[in-house]
Amino acid sequence: MLVLLLLWTGCGSAVPPELAPDLILHNAKIITVDPDFRVVEAAAIKGSRFLAVGSNDHVLNLAGSQTSLVDLEGRTAIPGLIDSHIHALHFGWHITKHVNFSTGERLTVESMVARIGEWAKNVPPGKWIYARGPYSLDFVAEGRLPNRWEVDAVTPENPFFMNMQGHVGVVNSYAMRLAGVTKRTPDPEGGKFVRDPKTGELTGIVYEFPAMNPFRGLIPRHSLEDNLNAVRKANEVFNSLGITSVVNLAMPQWEFAVLRQLWRDEGLTVRWTAMLRADARVFLNKPYSEVEAEMRALGPPTRFGNDWLKINGIKIVLDGFVEAAYMREPYLEDIFGKGWRGILLWDRESLKSALRAAGKYGIQVAIHVTGDAAVDVALEVMDEVDREYPVAGRRWSLEHAGVMPTEENLEIAERLKVIISTQQSMGWSIGKTFKKWWGPEMGGIFAPNKTWLQALGHPYLKAGSDNRPINPFIGFWAYLARKDVDGEVAKPEEALGREDTLRLYTSNAAYGIFEEKERGSIEAGKLADLVVLSEDIMSVPEDQVREIKPVMTVVGGKIVFQQGS
Ligand SMILES: [Zn+2]
Repeated sequence: MLVLLLLWTGCGSAVPPELAPDLILHNAKIITVDPDFRVVEAAAIKGSRFLAVGSNDHVLNLAGSQTSLVDLEGRTAIPGLIDSHIHALHFGWHITKHVNFSTGERLTVESMVARIGEWAKNVPPGKWIYARGPYSLDFVAEGRLPNRWEVDAVTPENPFFMNMQGHVGVVNSYAMRLAGVTKRTPDPEGGKFVRDPKTGELTGIVYEFPAMNPFRGLIPRHSLEDNLNAVRKANEVFNSLGITSVVNLAMPQWEFAVLRQLWRDEGLTVRWTAMLRADARVFLNKPYSEVEAEMRALGPPTRFGNDWLKINGIKIVLDGFVEAAYMREPYLEDIFGKGWRGILLWDRESLKSALRAAGKYGIQVAIHVTGDAAVDVALEVMDEVDREYPVAGRRWSLEHAGVMPTEENLEIAERLKVIISTQQSMGWSIGKTFKKWWGPEMGGIFAPNKTWLQALGHPYLKAGSDNRPINPFIGFWAYLARKDVDGEVAKPEEALGREDTLRLYTSNAAYGIFEEKERGSIEAGKLADLVVLSEDIMSVPEDQVREIKPVMTVVGGKIVFQQGS
């Protein structure tokens, strides 16, 4: 078709309406992120795909009588952004159903308690109040969360649960009564009820899932309608931030069903790829034949689905997170006991069985690894599995991988073509906590992006948010600036440039989900996903990158967001 159009243009005749583009964006600085990183002035879209890109003259020549022309007045446009690591339904709940402290604002214990109290006024007695904690304690002036007595004062008639970034919880006394948890309840294996050092009373702060589960199990699930609404609202926010595709990590099957219903009944404005949750409880310490059966039952293989909704594989959570990353050397503080080195949630044999089965059934695998020792285990086990099922080409990934890799790590990762997925905004949102517990030399979660990229090359490094925060412009800035909330820079030699960073969020991310032929760059024939920016992301001063706002987002050729509308 393109050849035909060029011919018509060449002989100067009008393009027949059925071949003319629906939309032409022109007078722009369009950063295509094609292999040559070409910058062009205009793009034509027909249906859901780009029809042509190039100079204003060339592309405007394609216009027919029905073509909408949008003059972008010199603004910069980039491919639609792909968040390679997100927990999207959680985000949807936080903005629709929960008291939400994950906003990036500076908090105090008093301001948090006051907001919980305001929320409680509208909740009938006996109903649960659920709060999303701040990104980290770096955002709370006192460096701690409210305790149960402080929360009790404003929630006398409701059970309360707050979760901070997955691994830390706060409950009130009402919730403890319902769960039957008292000062005589022993700490569960792998978890901790924090106690007042003087009285032994439980403070209401709980660490890790085994200690949170007695409360989480009592909280009623959201209704289907609430879940659908959470996804709708999340999609709106993603589009307003220039996000056109997300990779949802550790998605349970029921969550995928919510997505499928929304896609079928209303359509989506964000393209979703699911990595289903591979629950340790299902896979650990089973004979290989059972692991294989479980893996086969879990879901269809990589690339099942369509442009909007796909299942690509599974996510395995190999170690803990901030407080429980599996480390070679002890934490600087004995968080859960002397010489604390974090938690390995899967033993090597169980991990190997799961990876063999995934290899056999062609299932893509993403492995959460926070600590350096967890990176060692993940890569060594992949290397063993490689002898039976070659790993290169499967696009398996390490998620987070925020510590400096060893020579051996780099050698295995390069040979097996492992993808490294970092979420650099965490350096901003949790960086101080990591530095406190791991020491400044470790760099904490300020990932060694340059080291990984130099060893592996494009497209083997990609970027996500892990909801900390969702805003990809804060994330983009974090790859350049590597600053924590107080502006302190960590390992500046690991900073990336803007071109590399843009690839992380676009072409590399598309490669990571086997979509490089369809998405990730602005090229004729690809899906027309694009975002127009308030500022030029390639030249605006570094500290202003985080302030960039999309002015228009296009997904599949449709304008799904426009500033001010
Ligand atoms: Zn995550």
